[in-house]
Amino acid sequence: MQKRVLVTGAGGFIGHHLVSYLTDLGYWVRGADLKYPEFCTTRASEFRIADLRNVESCKEVTAGVEMVFALAADMGGMGYISSHHACILHSNTLINFNTLEAARLNGVKRYLYTSSACVYPEYRQLKIDVPALREEDAYPAAPQDAYGWEKLITERLCTHYREDYGMETRIVRFHNIFGPLGTWDGGREKAPAALCRKIAVAKLTGNPVIDIWGDGEQTRSFCYITDCVTGLYKIMMSNFSQPLNLGQDRMVSINQLADMISSIAGFPIKKRHVPGPIGVRGRNSDNTLLREVLNWTPAVSLEEGLRCTYDWIESQVAARPEKPIEPYIGAVAV
Ligand code: NAD
Repeated sequence: MQKRVLVTGAGGFIGHHLVSYLTDLGYWVRGADLKYPEFCTTRASEFRIADLRNVESCKEVTAGVEMVFALAADMGGMGYISSHHACILHSNTLINFNTLEAARLNGVKRYLYTSSACVYPEYRQLKIDVPALREEDAYPAAPQDAYGWEKLITERLCTHYREDYGMETRIVRFHNIFGPLGTWDGGREKAPAALCRKIAVAKLTGNPVIDIWGDGEQTRSFCYITDCVTGLYKIMMSNFSQPLNLGQDRMVSINQLADMISSIAGFPIKKRHVPGPIGVRGRNSDNTLLREVLNWTPAVSLEEGLRCTYDWIESQVAARPEKPIEPYIGAVAV
């Protein structure tokens, strides 16, 4: 008999890839989201269109499953999360509090919550060459945005549900996941996708100028989607219930990221630095605990991941003649 699992946010980037991964492992997967995946048909056994801010919807989608991968969130790149504090905090709190409680009422055994590196305090991320963030560095708490505060409080709720109700909860802190089939325009895209789009547009129009928010020296690490879903599943099945980083620990600047993509595209670019939200100055994942717990860390190189992502985004840009192919400002910070 197939085990039944729920993936919320299954119409989104990571959720869609996770549905495919779990289906390949032999699970019966229910997907739930406000929308179907944008770029590819879902492989979920069943897909429910549902607004998970709503209590009744949460009860319906969590019924009859053993495990829940909770990925639904109102989110986007730096441009989005730095300018939508109220609706992000309000929507994501409702989604997560209602989904977790409905899962408890329905007797769900394991519940994985997808948190973020955005929980880490701003005061530990003030320099380009910051030390990598260990899980315990989240406290004393001082996340930069409402998005990070909500993630932190839901992490705590998961911990209390485990302590008080015996539900096996898992908490994953993602560090910049990227790959094909993710949002690449419209304002919610993150740095790798925004840069791939801009460079694809530059190549297709022959105009080499790329706008980058800030001086581009801000640093991050980037983790490819196949490593992300592998890690998610390993963490769900592990016995470890405290928060765990899931990301790469190779830090690069946004300028370096742009140069790497430019070289993959085979098209030299000129960077124009413009004002815009840049997030924290530097951020990296310390993977010591992840390695200890899983005996595994993400393995796909940034170059390899960017090659697959760029090729897909270039094909998307080229296939959308109805949209003007011209350079425009989008999120290039995370
Ligand atoms: P995404 O935006 O592609 O997917 C999120 C999905 O949640 C979307 O399809 C959206 O429609 C859905 N959703 C939003 N509001 C909903 C609602 N009220 N009811 C039902 N569904 C709703 O984002 P993603 O990159 O796939 O991220 C998945 C999870 O991982 C999120 O919780 C996000 O906060 C977290 N995360 C992602 C990253 C990253 O780098 N992508 C980094 C840190 C944390």
